[in-house]
Amino acid sequence: MKKDTVAGLFCILMIGCAGPQSGTTTVSGPNAEATMSTTMSDNPFFAETWDTPYGAPPFERIKDEHYAPAFVRGMAEHLREVEAIANATAEPTFDNTIVALERSGEMLSRVALVFFNLASADRTDALGALETEFAPKLSQHQDAIVLNEQLFERVKKVYDTREGPNLNPELNPELNPEQKKLVEDYHRDFVRAGATVKSEDKERLKAINTELATLYTEFSNRLLEENKYLLILDDETQLAGLPQQLRSAGAALANERGHAGKWAYGLVRSSYEPFMSYSTDRKLREQLWRAFHDRGSHDGDHDTRGLVLAIATLRAERARLFGYETHADYAIDGNMAKTPRAVFDLMSKLFKGAKTRMDQERDALQRLLAADLGRKAKLEPWDWRYYAEKQRKLQFDLSDEELKPYFQVDTVRQGAFRTAEKLFGITFEEVTSSVPRYHPDVKAFDVKNADGSHVGLLYVDYFPRPSKRGGAWMDLFRVQRDLGEPRRPIVVNVGNFPAPTDDTPALLGWSEVTTLFHEFGHALHGLLSDVTYPRLAGTSVKRDYVEFPSQLMENWASEPAVLKEYAKHYVTGESIPDDLIAKIRNSSKFNQGFETGEYVAAALLDLQWHTRNLEQMRAIQDVNIFDRETMRTVGMAAEIPPRYYSPYFQHIFADGGYAAGYYVYGWAQVLEADAFHAFEEKGDVFDPELSAKLRKHVFAAGSSQDEMVLYTTFRGAKPSVEPLLKKRGLDGK
Ligand SMILES: [Zn+2]
Repeated sequence: MKKDTVAGLFCILMIGCAGPQSGTTTVSGPNAEATMSTTMSDNPFFAETWDTPYGAPPFERIKDEHYAPAFVRGMAEHLREVEAIANATAEPTFDNTIVALERSGEMLSRVALVFFNLASADRTDALGALETEFAPKLSQHQDAIVLNEQLFERVKKVYDTREGPNLNPELNPELNPEQKKLVEDYHRDFVRAGATVKSEDKERLKAINTELATLYTEFSNRLLEENKYLLILDDETQLAGLPQQLRSAGAALANERGHAGKWAYGLVRSSYEPFMSYSTDRKLREQLWRAFHDRGSHDGDHDTRGLVLAIATLRAERARLFGYETHADYAIDGNMAKTPRAVFDLMSKLFKGAKTRMDQERDALQRLLAADLGRKAKLEPWDWRYYAEKQRKLQFDLSDEELKPYFQVDTVRQGAFRTAEKLFGITFEEVTSSVPRYHPDVKAFDVKNADGSHVGLLYVDYFPRPSKRGGAWMDLFRVQRDLGEPRRPIVVNVGNFPAPTDDTPALLGWSEVTTLFHEFGHALHGLLSDVTYPRLAGTSVKRDYVEFPSQLMENWASEPAVLKEYAKHYVTGESIPDDLIAKIRNSSKFNQGFETGEYVAAALLDLQWHTRNLEQMRAIQDVNIFDRETMRTVGMAAEIPPRYYSPYFQHIFADGGYAAGYYVYGWAQVLEADAFHAFEEKGDVFDPELSAKLRKHVFAAGSSQDEMVLYTTFRGAKPSVEPLLKKRGLDGK
């Protein structure tokens, strides 16, 4: 996972738009104006540079009361700069328009980067209140810029002459590919904000956006109600098959929800999936399965089906205002995939591979069921996870307890560092003194090239604490750029790995090991960035590409030779034995027909909703029929529903972010498997020539060119789906 990162004008505001976390705080932020006068002189955000090692934020001098005045002043300054660009009388040029925008908003960027990092990694009530206060203000600030018509006029003039030759070559010299890309990205932002919508349609566009926002909230609220369902068990015999931990969790949930002395299981995946995997009571499994899949499809107050139709129809109408035939055309246009057709082709190939395996898995599970319940018994959807778990135990048992002693967090981190060293020739040296840190748990590393030149500063912050939100992520405190004086990045990796105790060091399970490598991949993408313009730096890439470098890095974590080097027993120091390595590698193929099938089916369902134009949308009457028809056309096995049916498909109906975009996970997986396969073909996972290309065209290149161009330049070919199918055991071999 990677949070939205800040680079230049628009991305600053993407962070703001991410909104407050989980609504735990209320507005009680200090009055910004009043605070400003008292802290004006010593507010660290008002300084243009920081006189600290590496120019890192002077955390010890930053106080909660410094943020609000810096946000207020930063936004005002930014608006002044933007208005000066928009109102300039000189002929618009790349320099006086686009570069000027890249240079604008320095103070706002400074405060936003520190603020949003700490609001996630070391949150106080004061930061929570500030976030609630400033998230909407930042969103309005962004609107004020992208809806500035004069500014768009000037951007458009630069855009229209970007290919040259232009009327006045002295003013607008020929643009290089990175500059052209930058102009196109800026132009697209304005277009997507509605700059080219006809003036008579602008009111309608506003109304649609407002209505969609209301419908999203309503969808979320109804789904929240539906998610409250509990399967309540009052007799201990009904817990047959459930491991002790799951029994305790059930008792705790029941107690919390007012059913003390009983056991309860709900529809969140951490409750639902284990129950379905372990409960021997087939009737109860069926009951919980039906509750899970019927969400949103009950007549009454919590029915979401009408909302689904309304949302998809409004999106189709809006796409037309923007000049696109369907919402998918609009949503995918700016991405690496570019067209719904490209997404559909790739997903169909993945599905085809998964389908054969899915059928084999079903036959194997059917045999287990028949051995259990008799020859006539037929496998039902609520039996899948239960018999798959039995199958897993028989064939792929991978116990975290067995693995953990080999994965002490520091040695795993060293393994990740060593991988980067072998690939890219960079080194990591811990800097202990004088570098500012925002918390005592944070470690700082100076990253250097082989010739000793500075690459960037990397912070790692791995252990949980009450002030940190859940999960793991990468973010930036400073974005790379090379405008006049070069700036190297400051990057952070945050995690919630198990902390060390008095008698054991921090030991990771396998999924935590891959998470560490994954986030480190994002960190490298930020650190190695070598572009001119901050807007295009590091991880500021298209959303169907951003998870590619991070997922790619996970491949080295499970590479046998790499494992042998870093996975050492924390007591004996011996390397991980071969049989455990074999288990790790085998387990990645378990149940992949099901996993891939249910994911791709949901991605295709998303695509089906959003590749219909307005007239076609209006003809759809019944959401459940639409879902079933789609699954029949796709060829989904009857025993496997898609990962989401529409009435509870939160990703695509509870907000706009992933509509026609649920495919991005699978797309990035195809890229990473194909890219790693390039190393396998060379017979050396550290092949120097390929590593150099990977650094130049992927890790250093940010979004300096079209992502498909970058990828094919690295790979020498377009991405192929075959390596992913092979990796998951879906290639029929
Ligand atoms: Zn990620």
